[in-house]
Amino acid sequence: MVRIVLEPFAKVNLGLDIVGRRDDGYHEVKMIMQSVDLKDCMTLTVTDEDIVAIMTDSKDIPADDSNIVIKAIKLLKQEYGIKKGINVELKKNIPIAGGMAGGSADAAAALRGMNELFNLKLDDKKLCELGVKLGADVPYCIMGGTMLSEGIGEVLTPLKSAPDCYAAIVKPAFSVSTKKVYEAYDSLSGDRIIHPDIDGLIDAINEGDLYKMCTRMGNSLESVTEKDHPYITEIKRILEEKGAVKAMMSGSGPTVFAIFDDKDKANSAISVFDNNERIEMTTVVKFLN
Ligand code: ATP
Repeated sequence: MVRIVLEPFAKVNLGLDIVGRRDDGYHEVKMIMQSVDLKDCMTLTVTDEDIVAIMTDSKDIPADDSNIVIKAIKLLKQEYGIKKGINVELKKNIPIAGGMAGGSADAAAALRGMNELFNLKLDDKKLCELGVKLGADVPYCIMGGTMLSEGIGEVLTPLKSAPDCYAAIVKPAFSVSTKKVYEAYDSLSGDRIIHPDIDGLIDAINEGDLYKMCTRMGNSLESVTEKDHPYITEIKRILEEKGAVKAMMSGSGPTVFAIFDDKDKANSAISVFDNNERIEMTTVVKFLN
């Protein structure tokens, strides 16, 4: 095989709790991750020259060795002594630095792609072990679906599929640095820290109860990012006014997603943001298993 086409999928966090901080500075999390059908498109082509190069339609991601896709490919080349080169073509649809794990999803897909192209026969466990070296969300992105993610993101437990629904995605026209959001979180005093009921959320998912699930969704980082960017609060308010069962920020933000039980309501809600220069993109997605 000389070429493979991959479709890295974005995620939202149905729940995100920070349960501790390790001595090395990493945060210990308890998150419910959910894949959604918003995807990038990536082609890997094997070349004879020992060079890894990337071409992308996005001006907002690096096209050099700091791109996480290049890091993923080079990691496998080094681990398995691969001397061939790779040309990457990457079309970005997942918002960048938006809290939807776009970079991690691309890295995960690159690992899977390399595994196929060079017939490395790495199982999911091994791919996840390699993936966490690239980023805490990469192991989840290798697996996808509905998962409990613990540790720094590498301890994964599959859950029952989340109840069927539509999620309206609204990405404001600014991005946030995940690192800075976690730093700001660390400087919060105890009583301002929210800890969502992740176990209760898992029960609601197991029961297949969309409305109960929505009452238990929560994100410890939401108030941190909202403090600097009150427009996020405004977007959530608008989406809930337009009939969302629940609107919440994903990951470290600033992307907001809103759960709807009806597709038309979800589409009508995002249309409120048409031609709004403060909004970078909107779409309605389904959850993926
Ligand atoms: P998370 O939800 O895991 O916090 P995110 O969605 O907020 O991630 P990303 O889109 O993964 O953030 O981007 C984070 C940073 O990584 C950006 O500064 C971006 O320039 C850089 N980056 C490097 N490679 C990529 C890539 N292939 N796709 C997207 N971003 C990349």
